[in-house]
Amino acid sequence: MKFGIDAGGTLVKMVKEENNQRFYSKYLSTEIEEVAEMLKQFPEAEVALTGGKATYLQSLIPQEAFQSIEFDATFKGIQTFLKQYQHPLENYIFTNVGTGTSIHHVERDKQERAGGTGAGGGMIQGLGYLLTGETDFERLVTLAAQGDRDNIDLKVKHIYKGDKTPIPGELTAANFGRVLHTKDHVTYSDADKLAAAVGVVGETVTTVSIHAAREFNAEYVVYIGSSFLGNDLLKEVVMRYTVLRGFRPYFIENGEYSGALGTLKLM
Ligand code: ATP
Ligand code: MG
Repeated sequence: MKFGIDAGGTLVKMVKEENNQRFYSKYLSTEIEEVAEMLKQFPEAEVALTGGKATYLQSLIPQEAFQSIEFDATFKGIQTFLKQYQHPLENYIFTNVGTGTSIHHVERDKQERAGGTGAGGGMIQGLGYLLTGETDFERLVTLAAQGDRDNIDLKVKHIYKGDKTPIPGELTAANFGRVLHTKDHVTYSDADKLAAAVGVVGETVTTVSIHAAREFNAEYVVYIGSSFLGNDLLKEVVMRYTVLRGFRPYFIENGEYSGALGTLKLM
């Protein structure tokens, strides 16, 4: 039995391989001690770790685990998934929208970090809480999907009232920039505020990714990370914005387990 575990800032992702079958599970990082208790039940298991809390998890378990660097593990996992899903790519960007966002360029069998942004899943949770008091991720994203950010975000077409726009009018000119124009005649629901929060994260992540794609002449941006889980709005914003800017988005099924799978495969 083999375990690949990516212990991240918010979630611990686990891949178990047994009899050629793969099982996926995840836990809150605040419950990492429970993950360790579970691993103690299988002292003979081979364990591979990665992620920011890997060394801490190692200190809690009896197995002498293999450890890999998070970026190498994530890359290995992505390559494994792309092969499995028969979607070969040679020159691409991958963007991991975790608690924070990390952006990488891949050329054949080499990955190199190309940048990042503090806008990511942690910002959706933190800003979402500040705006609405909601702490439950599932409720937060369900509500966000029902919102409308038209009265909150300022688009290019709003600035160029009726005039020809030098860039597409549907692009956001200023996230939250319309609020002071609309505040006297509209009320903003929690859903609207959350939609705008997801919007600013999605657009920031996409903008930074696309700059990397342009720099490295890549056609595809591969998006992974638990921030997309059940979060169709984030997916839609990222997809639409990537296409609008002239690149091709690709979302990997189970992609949030790339680090966990990758460290297992590197062992
Ligand atoms: P990092 O890689 O930055 O250390 P991480 O590996 O923990 O962090 P991910 O697991 O990829 O990051 O994504 C974390 C994000 O996923 C959260 O910030 C949140 O937006 C989202 N998320 C999805 N499901 C949940 C959940 N059940 N509880 C909390 N956050 C969730
Ligand atoms: Mg992570």
